[in-house]
This record gives sequence, structure tokens and C-alpha cells, in this order.
Amino acid sequence: MLPGSASAGRDSDVDNLDVRINRVLRCQVNYERPRIVAGNSKYRLAGKSRSDRVLVVFGDNGKIGVGACSSGANAKQARYLIGKKVSDLIGDFAGEVNQRVGTSALWDLAGKTLEKPVYQLLGGKAPKGGIPVYDGMIYHEELLSRDQNSAYRNPDSKYGSKPSWKDIIKEAIDVSKQENHNFVKVKIGRGKLHLSRKAGNYQDAAVLELIREYAGKGFGIGVDANDGYSLEDTLWLLNECGSLNIAYIEEMFPDDANQYRVVRKEIKKLGLKTMIADGEGWRKPSDPLVTEIIESGTVDILQADMRRFEIEGILEESRMATQAGHGSMIAPHNFGNDFGFYMSIHVGCAIPNFYRAEHDPGKQLDNLLIKHGYDIVNGTCQNFDAPGLGIELNPKRLGDLNTQFDVKQ
Ligand SMILES: [Mg+2]
Repeated sequence: MLPGSASAGRDSDVDNLDVRINRVLRCQVNYERPRIVAGNSKYRLAGKSRSDRVLVVFGDNGKIGVGACSSGANAKQARYLIGKKVSDLIGDFAGEVNQRVGTSALWDLAGKTLEKPVYQLLGGKAPKGGIPVYDGMIYHEELLSRDQNSAYRNPDSKYGSKPSWKDIIKEAIDVSKQENHNFVKVKIGRGKLHLSRKAGNYQDAAVLELIREYAGKGFGIGVDANDGYSLEDTLWLLNECGSLNIAYIEEMFPDDANQYRVVRKEIKKLGLKTMIADGEGWRKPSDPLVTEIIESGTVDILQADMRRFEIEGILEESRMATQAGHGSMIAPHNFGNDFGFYMSIHVGCAIPNFYRAEHDPGKQLDNLLIKHGYDIVNGTCQNFDAPGLGIELNPKRLGDLNTQFDVKQ
């Protein structure tokens, strides 16, 4: 539990908000990562660039809300919002109240209208030290040139133009530290797609040993196999890397409470503090698998996807975890998305069992959005008190937006 965090209790001003939506559009914002990111156990390249689908909602009070747009959202669904009150479109799980277009832009609009950050509307409080975050982008970096059949990506690297695999991993950690991170998630599962099972597993272990040695004792390390390990591989890794103080193991294999029980037993036997993390594949809080896993208490860190679950779904996940009483924490999955990160920060202030927010460092290329704060300082996110989500549409860009849909009253 974060110091100073509070249980969610929605601000009553939101319910009394008399603002209606008169225009909804979707556009795209592009970002560049600080380096090329390699592949994981499922694919061979994450890449240098990424983009966010952004939903922009216009209130009849002249305020503009920006947030994440759901992947399947179209003009017909967006039209559903037109003429409706903001307060009627948020608060319950997104799919059930607003046609799956997304609620974060509406929360942003509410916050800008009431001149309060979203976390306050959710009844939350910003912890003094900020919200803990982690860099989720340490992939199978040393395999990139082999996979892409190309020269190493950075001839200006301080490690030279022909670095060893160890130098490549060190460089990824250097970049993460330059972004002020002190906790990383390391992709493992090299034996699923890239290498033979045995060679992949041993290379995973070698990478983890190197990172622990290079980054130091206090540096946070989690691992994520993207379901590329078996139960047997997982038990092997715990034995092989037990001394490395791995904070958590994520998606080792598809969610299975019985198999997690076996893993928990092994963790206990070895006397480790390693936690089990899973949930990014979940569709909605009411799915039977979600209930089963949360109630079983076999997963310590619940990771439903931030944008798919929306703010409302993560609040519900948190409530379910509290009710289950096993002490499970919440760390929303958020791959390659700035709005998902902002949402995680605000929801993190509003629930009592938040763990960390997932960050994918990147610089906005389009000058489309003006960001206030969200400074990463010593592995925490700080300064996010601007109204709403603290992100504004650049007024100079309003006339030349490349929109995927734009519906008006
Ligand atoms: Mg994952």
C-alpha cells in the first residue's frame, strides 16, 4: 500500500456536472523511443516508434477532454456520446456505459471543468513521494541484430560499433537509468521463439545475472515471459535465479490457479520474496477467470490492461482484490501508451493496493499534445496535479488534425 493513498470515493461534483458532449474525434499521436526495442517471446521487434490512439471530446462548456481511445472505437459508437452528459458516461465499466469508446477523455473533461486532477475526482490523494513506476521495455535486446540480420543499431554507442551481447544489455539499462528509472521489467522466454528451449532459458538467466551485477543490489528487476515458459521452466528459473532477488514473475504461462499453487510452493520452499504477476489478457472484470484468479489468491500482482479495463475496471479489480483479502496488489498492464501511463498514475492515487505503473519511455513527435508534469524522478512519477489528466490538445494543431473519425452535433 502506498503511503498517503486513499480508498476511492468518487467526488460528488462529478455527479452534478452539467456538461454535454457536442463533438468527438479520434486522432493519432506518434512517439519515438530512446532506442530501438527488440522482441519478446512472441515477436521479433517492438521497434523505435509507437503511437497512441487519442480520443478528444468537446464539452458544451468549451472545455476539451483528451484521453485514450479504445482500439475498436468507430464513428457510430462515438456518436452515442453526442448530446449526453459527461456524468452519465463515466463511472461504470466502460463497455457498459459508453459503447467502448473509452472513458479517460471524459474524466479529463470533468477534471478540466472542475479544475481538479482526475485522481481527486476518484477520491484519491497523491502520495508524497510520487507513484512508483517501472520501465517495461527491456526486451531480448542482444538478439536484435541476429533476428533482423543487420548490424548493431548504434555505432555511436559507448560500447563501440561491435559490442558484445553483454554491452548491448548494459546499454539498455544505461538508457533506462538516463530516463530516471530504477526498476525494470525484463522480457524472458528466449527459448520460445528465438532459441532452443535450453539455450533460451540459460540465456535468460545469464541476462538476469548480468543486469543484477551491472545495475546493483537496489535496482528493481521483474521478469515477463509473455506465456513463453512452462511450469517446469518456471520452477527451474526460480532455482537458477533465486539469489538475484527477482521482484516478480509475470505471465510465465497462461493463467492457471493450480499451476500457480505449485509455483508458490516452490517460492516458499526456496525462501524467496518473488511475487507472481498476471492478468494482462483479461477482457473485463466480470469474466469468470478474473474472479477465479483473484479469489484464489494465487496471483500477487494483478495486471489487467489499463486501457481495456479503463479507470472504472481497474477500480473494480482493486475492490475485488481487497474483498478477496489475500493482499494482492494492482499494477495495470500498459504497453507502449502514454495515456495508459497517465491513467495508471491517477488510478494509483485512488486505490489502497497499487503496486507500480508501467512506463514505456518515449518522446512525442507531433507536438499535438501539451503535457504538464509526469516527471520521472528516482523511479517515481511526480507532479501530476494539473486539471484532468494534465494533457491538453495543442490549440495550434486543432485545425490540421489527422482524424480517424470526427462526429459533431
Ligand atoms: Mg506482460
